[in-house]
Amino acid sequence: MPITSDTSPLVVLNLPDPATGTQVQTCSAGLDDGPWEHDAEHGYGPGASIADRLPQDAPRQGLIPLEYRRASPAELDLRIRAARHALGERVVLLGHFYQRDEIVQYADFVGDSFQLAQAARTKPNAEAIVFCGVHFMAETADILARPEQAVILPNLAAGCSMADMADIDTVQDCWEELTALYGDGTDANGRAPIVPVTYMNSAANLKAFCGEQGGVVCTSSNADRVLRWAFERGERVLFFPDQHLGRNTGVAMGIPLDEMIVWHPDQPLGGNTPEQLRKAKIILWHGFCSVHKRFTVDQIAMGRQRHPGVRVIVHPECTMEVVNAADEAGSTDYIRKAVQGATEPTTFAIGTEINLVQRLAKEHPQHTIFCLDSIVCPCSTMYRIHPSYLAWVLEALERGEVLNRITVPENIAAPARIALERMLALAPQSQAVAR
Ligand code: SF4
Repeated sequence: MPITSDTSPLVVLNLPDPATGTQVQTCSAGLDDGPWEHDAEHGYGPGASIADRLPQDAPRQGLIPLEYRRASPAELDLRIRAARHALGERVVLLGHFYQRDEIVQYADFVGDSFQLAQAARTKPNAEAIVFCGVHFMAETADILARPEQAVILPNLAAGCSMADMADIDTVQDCWEELTALYGDGTDANGRAPIVPVTYMNSAANLKAFCGEQGGVVCTSSNADRVLRWAFERGERVLFFPDQHLGRNTGVAMGIPLDEMIVWHPDQPLGGNTPEQLRKAKIILWHGFCSVHKRFTVDQIAMGRQRHPGVRVIVHPECTMEVVNAADEAGSTDYIRKAVQGATEPTTFAIGTEINLVQRLAKEHPQHTIFCLDSIVCPCSTMYRIHPSYLAWVLEALERGEVLNRITVPENIAAPARIALERMLALAPQSQAVAR
């Protein structure tokens, strides 16, 4: 059963700053630990919302050897560089925008999930693709990679709490309820009663479901174009797992709020009446990103008060109220390009994951860049990729051993590829950054 409660806050701690002795807020003292300290726990680890419950069948990471857990940052750096050098073109290393800098420094490409999967395709001779990101990203890379290429996720505990909020059984149950209500006939324009659209942040079997049911995948860069495509083929859209991206995109397309309803998977008809479901244009799965849900309208007001003229940009996984209060909303790629494209020194308040915001601030000292949320709280699952795990998988590859391989069976990969290719045909993506 997916998580349906989004009311519980993160555990926020007040800790003394070692430099000044003053109290500072952080989301979890556990973030100072090596991620292996938390692999035995049944949860997403430090920084996660206490509402985020790990599915029973989520992959677990076994303890990595002591030599990697004990190694100093300097030793790990030497070992990673040596293994990378020895492996040469046999390996391509991908780093998501939300990874820590200690990881991004080794990446051949940095980008969002789909840019990275595409970037890996430019290295068809690489035997291994090491994906420093989370589980659904490695699955997508495997779907798009050549069958001989091994896609490796350095820490199997790097999942995504949002992706885990929709699972194939629950989505299929929802689909059965909806098709029983709507029937399977087409309207006067030849449109189906409903078309499924999944966000990239979803399991491979949900992408396959979309491929089989005439649906499609979207990213936060192309959700509007994808929804227009879906409305040419269907009267309504079932959008999962992120309700906020779906709602924000629908609002931007002019769809009234009362024609976008939320599907609560633990309730009959998703907690809606048949009349509401018949009127709906978009049925939004009750999923959310715990990182982006932390941003608030009050934070924006505070930022504007303290920095008159500030340019506020947030990610569309934020709530509608936050997106409405911001100056702009866009994907990680949009945010990065907005900062790069500012020709005059500018103050930016950004509502997305802290690692990307801090990196942008470092790379663009001519601008003042800060995160809307002053409590430093990274994505708890991206945090699971640490140099110790990277050194462990790379040195194994050097010995000819493939650890933590993510494989999507072809009966799932084939229909998932169809849904991905439908998206690509209508909305070409921008490129990951080669380093
Ligand atoms: S930032 Fe949110 S959507 Fe992205 S991986 Fe983390 S939990 Fe998932």
